[in-house]
Amino acid sequence: MSERAKKSATVVGAGMVGVCCALYLQNEGYEVTVIDLNGPGEKTSSGNLGGFGVASCPPAAMPGIIKQVPDMLFKETAPLKLRWRHAVTALPWFIRFIAQSRRSNVEANARARQSLLDKVHAAIDPLIAEAGAQDLMNSAGLMFTFETEAAFQKSTYAFDLRKRNGVELDLLNGNEARQVEPNLSENVVRAYRVANFSNTADPLRLVQALAQLFLARGGIHHRAEVRGFRVGSEGVDAVLTDTSEMPVEVLVLAAGVWSRPLAKQLGTSVPLEAERGYHTHFLGSQVAMTGAIMSVERHVAVTPMLEGIRVGGMAEFAGPDAPADMRYAKIVRAHAQALFPGLSSHKEFSEWMGPRPSHPDAKPVIARSPLHRNVLFAFGHDHLGLTFGGITGKLISELATDNTPSVDLEPFRPDRF
Ligand SMILES: Cc1cc2nc3c(=O)[nH]c(=O)nc-3n(C[C@H](O)[C@H](O)[C@H](O)COP(=O)(O)OP(=O)(O)OC[C@H]3O[C@@H](n4cnc5c(N)ncnc54)[C@H](O)[C@@H]3O)c2cc1C
Repeated sequence: MSERAKKSATVVGAGMVGVCCALYLQNEGYEVTVIDLNGPGEKTSSGNLGGFGVASCPPAAMPGIIKQVPDMLFKETAPLKLRWRHAVTALPWFIRFIAQSRRSNVEANARARQSLLDKVHAAIDPLIAEAGAQDLMNSAGLMFTFETEAAFQKSTYAFDLRKRNGVELDLLNGNEARQVEPNLSENVVRAYRVANFSNTADPLRLVQALAQLFLARGGIHHRAEVRGFRVGSEGVDAVLTDTSEMPVEVLVLAAGVWSRPLAKQLGTSVPLEAERGYHTHFLGSQVAMTGAIMSVERHVAVTPMLEGIRVGGMAEFAGPDAPADMRYAKIVRAHAQALFPGLSSHKEFSEWMGPRPSHPDAKPVIARSPLHRNVLFAFGHDHLGLTFGGITGKLISELATDNTPSVDLEPFRPDRF
C-alpha cells in the first residue's frame, strides 16, 4: 500500500456537506470514516428545496433589514419567527446580524458567497455523475417572481448586486413569466429568470446516492453520536462517541447546526444559530411546473420534485431540537396555493422542519481549526448547504493535503466573528 493510501480521515456528520467532504477526501487517497447517529442526509439535507442556488449571492442581512424586522416578526404570516424562550440566547446573534446589514458588509459577504458559487457545478457535477444520480437533476431554470411593482422596485439593490457578481438575469413581464410557467398566478406582474439554474428532484435521495458512492469506494459509516474529543500533544487524537473511543488522524467537523457545541469543545466559539425552515410537500400533485420559483414578497421557494411539489421557507429562531411548530408549514402551503391556484384543492401533504445552520454574515466556516492542526471545520452553510456541499468538500480536501485552496478562505475563518 502506498504512503498516500494509508492516510485516514474521520468526518463527523453525514449531511450533504459531510458526505461531500468524505468523497473529496477519498479522491485524495484517504480512508474515510463518517460518524453520524442518523442515516446520510436525514437531517436538514433531506427537506430542503433542492436548489443549486447559484443566483443567491445576496446575504440574508441586507440594507434596511432593521426596519423590516418588526413586520417580519409580528405579522401572523410573516417569515421570521422567534421563540421568546430562545430570545436571550439568540440576541447576540441578532445584534451581529443587524451589523452585517451595513452596505460595505453586504457587498463583501456577497462577493465571498459568489467566490464559492462560481465553483459549485465544477465541484458537485463530477460526484453526481460518478454516483449515477443525474436522473435526480432538473436544469429547467429558476424564476424570482413579484406580485407588485412596489416589491419589484424595492428589490433593485438585491438584483443589481446579483448582476454585479455575474449572475445572468432575464427580466420578464407577467405574461412572459406565465409562458414559462403556465400555471403561475395571474397576480405575478414581473419576474427575473435565471436560465442557468438546476435543482434536484429529491435532495434526500441525492445525498443517499452520494453516500452509496462513498460506501462503494470503501468508506465506512459508523452510527454513533459524537460526544467529545481526546486532545493529545499533536492535536485531537480520538473522537469520543456514545459507544466507543475512535482514534483519528484528520478530523472534519461537518455536523450542521450541531457543530457549535462540538467546535466549542475544541476551543472555537462560533455564533451558529438554528434558522429553522419549514416545508409542505404536495404529494402527487398533478399541477405542472417546469422549474423552480422564488417569490420575493412571500419569501418562499417552490420546486417541482419527484413525488409532487415542495414549498418551503420561514426562519424560526429556536433551539435546533425544539419541537416543530407545524403552523409554519401551513403558512408556506398557503403561499404556494396563492402562487399556483391549481394547488388549492390538493389534499395530500407532508410537512417538515429542518434547522439551517446560520451565521450572522451568511457565510460558512471552511477552515483549519485555529487550535488543532489536524481538525478541519465545514459548517454553517445556512440556506445554501446543498449548493455549497461539493465545493466545501473540495476545499476541505485541499486543506487536508496542504494544497493552496482553490478559493480564498480568508472570509470563511472561524475567528472572523
Ligand atoms: C426549508 C429549507 C429549504 C432549503 N433549501 C435549500 C436549497 O434549495 N438549496 C440549498 O443549497 N440549501 C437549502 N437549504 C439549506 C440546506 O438544507 C442546509 O444548508 C444543509 O442541509 C446543511 O447541510 P449539513 O450537511 O451542514 O447539515 P445536516 O444536513 O443537518 O447534517 C448534519 C449531520 O450531522 C449529524 N450530527 C449532528 N450532531 C452529531 C453528533 N454529535 N454526532 C454524530 N453526528 C451528528 C446529524 O445527524 C446530521 O446527519 C434549505 C434549508 C431549509 C430548512
